[in-house]
Amino acid sequence: MEKLKLPLGAEYVIDTLNKNGFSAHIVGGCVRDFLLGRKSDDYDINTSALPTQVKSLFDKTIDTGIDHGTVTVMINGESYEVTTYRIDGEYQDMRHPKSVSFTAELKEDLSRRDFTVNAMAYNHRDGVVDLFGGIADIKSRTIRAVGDPYLRFTEDALRVLRGIRFASVLGFDIEENTAQAIHALARNLTGVSCERIYVEWKKLLSGERAYEIIDEFFDVIKVFIPTLVREDLPERDVFMSLTPRHREIALLMRLGADGFRDCMRSLKTSTAVREYGAAVISRPHLPMHPTDAELKLYLISDNDEASLGAVEIMQAFGKTAPDTLTRLGALIASGHPRRPSMLAIGGKELIALGFRGERIGQILSALLVSIAEGKVENNADALVEYVKSVF
Ligand code: ATP
Ligand code: MG
Repeated sequence: MEKLKLPLGAEYVIDTLNKNGFSAHIVGGCVRDFLLGRKSDDYDINTSALPTQVKSLFDKTIDTGIDHGTVTVMINGESYEVTTYRIDGEYQDMRHPKSVSFTAELKEDLSRRDFTVNAMAYNHRDGVVDLFGGIADIKSRTIRAVGDPYLRFTEDALRVLRGIRFASVLGFDIEENTAQAIHALARNLTGVSCERIYVEWKKLLSGERAYEIIDEFFDVIKVFIPTLVREDLPERDVFMSLTPRHREIALLMRLGADGFRDCMRSLKTSTAVREYGAAVISRPHLPMHPTDAELKLYLISDNDEASLGAVEIMQAFGKTAPDTLTRLGALIASGHPRRPSMLAIGGKELIALGFRGERIGQILSALLVSIAEGKVENNADALVEYVKSVF
């Protein structure tokens, strides 16, 4: 059996637990990613030791989720989540087990996990513990529920979405029975918290098969984004050429900025995500071959990031030439003025010229436009002369 190369800290934690008579393995996503040759960021360890026993064996631990059996063990600044083998009690509200109990059986812990590829454990002594055909499913690139998918998705509706997110991210197919259960039970996602849904949705959007999965499981996505209609899904190549956050915006563009905001509010996303998307959607359209002046006018805004984002999307849709983004980037890099604070004169100079109140802001905005149109340069003397002659 080939030995997998574990981080030293993980080896140390497993060794220490073994030496004290406990069974311990790395488990879940990191085993899957190992077998796929993908880099894994976190190494979850499961063990027959109870949380108090885990805590007594290591110097530095944090009670991360002690009720659920999870203790974080710190080794040389790296953290490892060590969780006692669990059996989930009866499920309530389609999401949470009423209770969890600890068990000394690895098998029981693995059987509560969602998909066969996520239900494997590994340590150097036992090799890969694969009780549900996870290795075969990795080889055939298949997402398959552990046990009866109808039962497993009824216990916890989030698994419906996790199934399609893993298919998207790993580039896997979904086994037929599992896929049928996903379609059949998708509605139960309405009972799952928005925060949990959004975490999975974001990962799904970033996956290498995001387009195919959204297309095939459109009914599932519509459960948590009811305003989405099929026509909103762009062509595959356009959609996949976008970054994940722009994929989301492209899907929801038709809703307009306010519709996008409503949608993001219903998903309880951060203000940053909501307002970035709304700003991108609000940006004006550019022609196929914008003149320099048109580009400069377009850039006038307090949000360069949104200007660039909107152009990236326009370019992907073929609405503006492929060099527009580069031209825009060069203008930004050159310090071209696009906000009042970037002008060579400000309120002080305008007050000296006799202007007051709202008029000051209006003139500064107008100056940005005049500079973009090439009517005046951004230097103090020229701007003062210009203001005197025009306003
Ligand atoms: P990622 O690489 O995206 O973190 P992961 O497989 O590590 O993928 P996590 O959400 O971190 O996914 O969960 C860790 C493990 O816990 C999973 O591999 C799976 O075995 C188990 N798990 C997580 N959520 C569920 C769930 N809702 N139902 C059953 N098992 C779950
Ligand atoms: Mg993980």
